[in-house]
Amino acid sequence: MSGGWEGSTRRDELPPNWQSELRPFVLQRDGYRCRWHEDGPTCGHHANQVDHIEPGNDHRPENLQALCAYHHKIKTSREGNAARWRETARRPPERHPGLI
Ligand SMILES: [Zn+2]
Repeated sequence: MSGGWEGSTRRDELPPNWQSELRPFVLQRDGYRCRWHEDGPTCGHHANQVDHIEPGNDHRPENLQALCAYHHKIKTSREGNAARWRETARRPPERHPGLI
């Protein structure tokens, strides 16, 4: 007896035990504290979101971290724009080292 899931290859599909096991596991492991730390100390706010450190299909706990709602939103929107952002990122004009 198998369900109708064969052939489903959506890339962002979460595993069946995401809600029941993975998510609570990561939140508990991280103590319900946001693990966001960028250019500073760890955020530490109450976390109720579980984020993929490397976006994709890696649902191992090593690739998951607890985040607060605020930082999860930031990370998600940043990943959505990442490709474009990289192309259009403004770089300061570089001076030729020989022109000093
Ligand atoms: Zn946070």
